Amino acid sequence: MSFVLAIVGRPNVGKSTLFNRLVGKKLALVDDQPGVTRDLREGAARLGDLRFTVIDTAGLEDATDDSLQGRMRRLSERAVEMADAVLFLIDARAGITPNDTLFGDILRRSGKPVILAANKAEGRAGEAGYFEAYNLGLGEPIGLSAEHGEGMAELAVVLQDLIEGVDERLEEAETDIDVDVDAEDEERRITPSRPLQIAIVGRPNAGKSTLINKIIGEDRLLTGPEAGITRDAISVPFTWDGTPMRIFDTAGMRRKAKIQEKLEKMSVADGLRAVKFAEVVVVLLDAAIPFETQDLRIADLAEREGRAVVLAVNKWDLEDEKQDKLKALKEMFELHLPQLRGAPLITVSAKTGKGLDRLQAAILKAHDVWNRRVTTAQLNRWLAAMIEAHPPPAPSGRRIRLRYMTQAKTRPPGFVVMCSQPDKLPESYSRYLVNGLRDDFDMPGTPIRLWMRSQA
Ligand code: GDP
Ligand code: GDP
Repeated sequence: MSFVLAIVGRPNVGKSTLFNRLVGKKLALVDDQPGVTRDLREGAARLGDLRFTVIDTAGLEDATDDSLQGRMRRLSERAVEMADAVLFLIDARAGITPNDTLFGDILRRSGKPVILAANKAEGRAGEAGYFEAYNLGLGEPIGLSAEHGEGMAELAVVLQDLIEGVDERLEEAETDIDVDVDAEDEERRITPSRPLQIAIVGRPNAGKSTLINKIIGEDRLLTGPEAGITRDAISVPFTWDGTPMRIFDTAGMRRKAKIQEKLEKMSVADGLRAVKFAEVVVVLLDAAIPFETQDLRIADLAEREGRAVVLAVNKWDLEDEKQDKLKALKEMFELHLPQLRGAPLITVSAKTGKGLDRLQAAILKAHDVWNRRVTTAQLNRWLAAMIEAHPPPAPSGRRIRLRYMTQAKTRPPGFVVMCSQPDKLPESYSRYLVNGLRDDFDMPGTPIRLWMRSQA
């Protein structure tokens, strides 16, 4: 059985041109004849050593504007249904249009693997559109030129992986579900409405078990079926005031180790896995001994892994001078974790439940920000203002020019700035931009990534 690849995209992006290149002109001509399957052409494709079936959703050019969206949607859905994978084409010269976005949504929901390709990418005219394509949230686009045959090798590599993956899946049939962070990532991308994944990390005795039990409202974690048997991490579904969530639960939380040393060791590994699992990481500090080395390490790890972070200071019920203490905490935060600038700091008592509503609100907000998209238009207006307020330097007399900016990804938000001499731009200027983004677009509690790319 042959692997089936569907080429989809709005009219004029170059689907037929690519189809013809993949199947060869003769076949395409035969299939061009009018008939019931006129809208969907199918052909035997070859690309390097790869052999597969390709479906093209052509025949939309004569549709009126009104009927276009509906027809495109129906046709694409049919093609996607038949396919093992989808090649989603956009026109790098035209940039992303509302219909591209519509397609992106359909494809994301389909659950099929999607290869995003920016066609007409030859030369420089396609550059901005290529970077804009990141905005579709479908990963890194392949730059293609169907007409000139560019990018075909890269396409072949990606396709080969997919074809082999499908073969393997057929062979393995059903394997046991392991906690596989990459697979989880994939799944999350396809179904964005799944429960919010959180982890509560922190030093032993910070109050993690107490907090989790308070939130979930029962002794579930301490009395789980595998308590004392497995050291593996599992995740527990629950709702927190009506919001579906999953929490990363570790053996270390379920079971109190008798030996303190053992507990400490375990919590480092557990913490690491918890961070990989989570979308939002709650770093739980003990108000009496906050910002200890272990706290800093795990918070830094969460930032580097690109997770949304909320700091919670526990055992607040034991503090007398709350105002002074809070001020001191904020100063320590700024001093020890500048990389998490803007992350919320919430005081709670896991014991009494005080502050947990604020903690939940902070988690939801951080998650929201982590997923946020800023439009290219907004970004470029903002960039112009930032440059005017504080122009980039001019090393050896040539001013660094920041030409164009777009959001390349979310979870966490990442931005690409096209600029001249990117390697000469000082770190302080990048920081100026990142801090500005955080303040001006209200993005607390999330790492922000910024890449400088040259246009050459
Ligand atoms: P479809 O409607 O998506 O099937 O698009 P077509 O394959 O009919 O192509 C639409 C137009 O884009 C045609 O004029 C093609 O010649 C042109 N085109 C297709 N691929 C490329 C490319 O890689 N670069 C450029 N510059 N033009 C292309
Ligand atoms: P874990 O090791 O991080 O899971 O911490 P535990 O949940 O086992 O808590 C350690 C100790 O701190 C226990 O004796 C708890 O009763 C206590 N504790 C936890 N949260 C609070 C709190 O908010 N206030 C007070 N006063 N004690 C707490």
